[in-house]
Amino acid sequence: MTGFYCKTCRRTSSSAKHRIDRCPACGGPTIDLDRSRALAARNDAFRRQLAMGWSSTCPAGEVIVTPDVAALGHTMESLILRSIGLRTTFPRDEPDTEHAVGVGRIGDKAFDWTISVESKPNSHRVDDRFTRRTLSVRLLSHP
Ligand SMILES: [Zn+2]
Repeated sequence: MTGFYCKTCRRTSSSAKHRIDRCPACGGPTIDLDRSRALAARNDAFRRQLAMGWSSTCPAGEVIVTPDVAALGHTMESLILRSIGLRTTFPRDEPDTEHAVGVGRIGDKAFDWTISVESKPNSHRVDDRFTRRTLSVRLLSHP
């Protein structure tokens, strides 16, 4: 049994036999919840390495910070990356979330981050052997 989430009307449907590409209720595009949860788990495992240290058993990838983040200095940059690694809640934790975006704040510095996943052609994005992640962090300007 696989669950599907409609991005338009937000209903959840399930099917034991086949993939549901279109919502039975409204015809909107659907998300495969099992795949979405698997991607969220891999993105979480990748991100946790920012706080726990890099491990060969976790998804591989790199971290990119914008020049304004780097200009804050090593200590502040480390604090920001650690806070990203330790995050366990998401503001929009809807069923389709892949935990690939987030926001945070340390003192008067607000930032957001995104994880992009590159996979080899014709491979599955949840298989760590064929994927490489990039986490990008930037400062948010605020009034
Ligand atoms: Zn729908």
